[in-house]
Amino acid sequence: MIGLVDCNNFFASCEELFRPYLRGKPIVVLSSNDGCVIARSKAAKKLGIKMGAPAFEYRELFKKYNVELCSSNFTLYADMSRRVMDVLKSTVPSVEVYSIDEAFFVLEDSDSAESIATELRKKLFKWTGIPVSIGIARSKVLAKLASEEAKTTPSGVCVVYEKDETALLQKTEVEEIWGIGPRLSQRARAHGIYTAYDLTIHPQISLQKLFNVVGQKIVHELKGESILQLEMVRAPRKSISTAKSFAYTIDNEEDIASILSSYIARVTMELRKEGSLASIIQISLFCKDRETVFERSLALDEPTSYTPRLIEIGKRMLSTLFNPTYAYKKVGVCLSGLVPDDPAPDLYRKVQTQEHSVMEVVDRLNCKHGKGTIRFAAEKPRPVKSSMRSSHATTAWDELPRVH
Ligand SMILES: [Mg+2]
Repeated sequence: MIGLVDCNNFFASCEELFRPYLRGKPIVVLSSNDGCVIARSKAAKKLGIKMGAPAFEYRELFKKYNVELCSSNFTLYADMSRRVMDVLKSTVPSVEVYSIDEAFFVLEDSDSAESIATELRKKLFKWTGIPVSIGIARSKVLAKLASEEAKTTPSGVCVVYEKDETALLQKTEVEEIWGIGPRLSQRARAHGIYTAYDLTIHPQISLQKLFNVVGQKIVHELKGESILQLEMVRAPRKSISTAKSFAYTIDNEEDIASILSSYIARVTMELRKEGSLASIIQISLFCKDRETVFERSLALDEPTSYTPRLIEIGKRMLSTLFNPTYAYKKVGVCLSGLVPDDPAPDLYRKVQTQEHSVMEVVDRLNCKHGKGTIRFAAEKPRPVKSSMRSSHATTAWDELPRVH
């Protein structure tokens, strides 16, 4: 069988970890620059606060119900996610991390599914402090439905055996099925398909006309046929990029160059993690009005993943784009033309090996001791508004929680 571990209200649960007095209180986590609601605790959901809504719409409500507002603290969330996944990987075989707070795993012994999941849930909570829900069923899509079901039970675990599938499918509306978007469900409804069960009894021939290949695979999964295999190897990416808005406009080249450098450091680290080199670098500079964008691409003489070289090139490209009469709101970098980093026996080999070892040390230190442990002098983090951010309690020495 296949299990799905889903962390409950993940970002909000992370915020509660080092501030236990928040437990049970309405907590809302806001997006970058404190703009929109991106996570809610159970109590905040009960107040009717909608996901993705602009925070200012709830100003009154936040005040009235004493809602705890948190600027997003992705360093904390990513680190807690890693901890949860590490415990999971050391406990069950074949784990596929699906998102920051969800992972699938394979369960060979289906007779003791309930007790294995209960133990796993207890262990995850004890070792990381994060509450999770676990759904187990014959396929990924069914496991996802089971995990939704698990959220409503006090045990936090839901095992759906073959005999229970029909009942679950009958009460699941088409739009609640994982992978079926609003467009597909609308089309299904127009054909008299209202529930997941209706989908499973619909004639195969007409389903082929109705749904694309993925949609058809989902229907097989609903029937308990596990065909969306755990993808142990992900397809390599075609490009790696990052572009984010500043908290305020910037009109000086040096500041933008520092922010750009930190973006380049980040994407090159990703690049090395994928085992790739980039052949093309593109820099985009967005004006205050957001409509005027200056862009430039450059094909590199030699594909590389060496951060200092790309920072140097990036800064040079920026200075050709920068015009002091404008103010800027955003900068971005995109690395493409990715090729595998196979050691090629050529003249540059010695230099490459040297660069490799330097970057390897930097990556290892940043991975072990937290991002930014080793930084390039050119880097400066992007200014963001996050005055309500909780501490980096698990990744920064000076922000460790105090015990009085
Ligand atoms: Mg979740």
